[in-house]
Amino acid sequence: MLNTKKVLILGGGTAGWMAANLMIKKWAGQNISVSLLESEEIGIIGVGEGSTPSLKDFFAYVDIPEQEWMPACNATYKNGITFKNWSSKPGFSSYCHPFPSQLDDYTADAFIYNAFVRRKGIDVEAHPDQFLFASHLCQQGLAPQAAFHFPFNVSYGYHFDSVLLGKFLKNKAKERGVTHIEGTVAAVEQHPNGDISRLVTKDGRAIEADLFVDCSGFQAVLIQQCLKEPFISFGNNLFNDSAVVMPTAATAQVNSQTIATALKAGWAWDIPLTNRTGNGYVFSSAFCSNDQAETELRTKLGLLDSAEPVRFLKMKVGRLQQHWAKNCLAVGLSQGFIEPLEATALHLVQETLLAFIEAYSAAGFTDKNRDKFNQIINHRFESVRDYIVCHYKVNSRTDTDYWRANSNNNDISESLRQVLQCWVGGADLRQEIDRQQIGRYFPSISWHCLLAGYGLFPEQSQLKPGNAEALKYNLTSIRDFVERCALNYQPHQNILQKLHQV
Ligand SMILES: Cc1cc2nc3c(=O)[nH]c(=O)nc-3n(C[C@H](O)[C@H](O)[C@H](O)COP(=O)(O)OP(=O)(O)OC[C@H]3O[C@@H](n4cnc5c(N)ncnc54)[C@H](O)[C@@H]3O)c2cc1C
Repeated sequence: MLNTKKVLILGGGTAGWMAANLMIKKWAGQNISVSLLESEEIGIIGVGEGSTPSLKDFFAYVDIPEQEWMPACNATYKNGITFKNWSSKPGFSSYCHPFPSQLDDYTADAFIYNAFVRRKGIDVEAHPDQFLFASHLCQQGLAPQAAFHFPFNVSYGYHFDSVLLGKFLKNKAKERGVTHIEGTVAAVEQHPNGDISRLVTKDGRAIEADLFVDCSGFQAVLIQQCLKEPFISFGNNLFNDSAVVMPTAATAQVNSQTIATALKAGWAWDIPLTNRTGNGYVFSSAFCSNDQAETELRTKLGLLDSAEPVRFLKMKVGRLQQHWAKNCLAVGLSQGFIEPLEATALHLVQETLLAFIEAYSAAGFTDKNRDKFNQIINHRFESVRDYIVCHYKVNSRTDTDYWRANSNNNDISESLRQVLQCWVGGADLRQEIDRQQIGRYFPSISWHCLLAGYGLFPEQSQLKPGNAEALKYNLTSIRDFVERCALNYQPHQNILQKLHQV
């Protein structure tokens, strides 16, 4: 039984309500009260509409079926992300980073082998889209649910309206016993040992707790403003610090993937919901003004003359030195953010919460427990960061200062440097990912997709024709296999219609 009796979560964005739902579920029957304080006047960030497959586990964990939450949040299925225009290499202007599937067991070896052989300078097909199953689902607009008779699983994530998801999770948490308090924190009081003792609201209420969870977004009211926890910026290799956002009407056929299109000073997302499409341009203010970004996004959307307003956001990219300090855990944007390119923020929220609940339930507030937890979360942040940084580092665009600065930037981690050396040096990347123990965050197949998807191979003119050994895998039969497997999957639109009618 834990000593903690009162948990107070500050902040009612997605992070706060995910924390409330997980904690009330995990600590049920342990005489622990969970309360959440949020400020209507400050509101939430209201972006963050794509997930990784881990969100499926979150909903399973808190016992909420898709039939219930997806229609309430205008949600759609996501098989992966297609990256457009990140590479100028002929034949590689676009590639998909698909979520994994059991069917990849039959084709991924061929992809990895061919990518290896092509790195050695032999002309074989090594574009990831030709091999991996969920890429095909993305291209064909299919949903990830197989027909009942087809016994293979495909991992998938979601797209959703983040404001509606927050409201949905809020209602669930309240139904399950979380106390909701409305108010704006004006002061934070501490015990003599530095632990937080209570939060005082603008209207003079004082709320005490034993454990405080800081989900106050980029404000980081508790962990940074009060406890002064240092923030480590990732700005030296992730240049984007701004975004401009503008929704458009839903498309007739709803995509089953996110599209991330490289623009002049960043990239734009296209996230399909059932009632609208979410669009945003993530850019670097050092290379592009707000006005230029707005014009570029409007031009991309064909809405240059539209009166539809846009919204600008600033992003603080980096992580805290410690996510758990004193009696305070930071979760969500308050703990750090690695820009939205692979939609990993809520994944990190979930991982932070589950790791904390496990560590804290086992050993409570001890320095050793805290240090070990912080080390694990920092490793997660840095491993995810490196995968994202790699997208910028290996780009082959030369059209703007922004892209040239990214590819010329040698301020990358030693881990990423070794991954790139391994790839370019023609060594076994699977072994390198295993050696560095970073495959838990982005597995070797994801790294292969990125590097092969950008066409990071010897130039076409340098490639030699494939011999019998190099042409070990028959591409026609792989394509045939993928296409025939896909006959067991329905159009995304049909599956959504059924789901939203339930
Ligand atoms: C441009 C952009 C795109 C993104 N895209 C994705 C994506 O595709 N996928 C993904 O997973 N994530 C994405 N994210 C991240 C995602 O938006 C966040 O991780 C998620 O919304 C959680 O935010 P949060 O709950 O930490 O903070 P917020 O939503 O900002 O919530 C903060 C809460 O704290 C409260 N608060 C703050 N100060 C006080 C105070 N003094 N008193 C009382 N309450 C207070 C606020 O009222 C609010 O309730 C994106 C972020 C950005 C900036």
